Amino acid sequence: MKTAPVLECPHCHSRFSKDDLEKYCSNCFSCTGCEIYECPTCRKLIEVRPVGKPMRGRPALDDDAGRAGG
Ligand SMILES: [Zn+2]
Ligand SMILES: [Zn+2]
Repeated sequence: MKTAPVLECPHCHSRFSKDDLEKYCSNCFSCTGCEIYECPTCRKLIEVRPVGKPMRGRPALDDDAGRAGG
């Protein structure tokens, strides 16, 4: 029998069980696996694992600047 991890609200310092809280982030924009819950006491967001930097991909320099021809 495993116990659910306990979260502590950084705002009101209340402690809840992860199972009790409902995940706030369902599918935020470009979610990279963040964990955000809403504190039932102070109704504030508990950011367990804030969204990190987006994966470094290719730069958005896709302008057709070097287009030759005509
Ligand atoms: Zn709280
Ligand atoms: Zn998210």
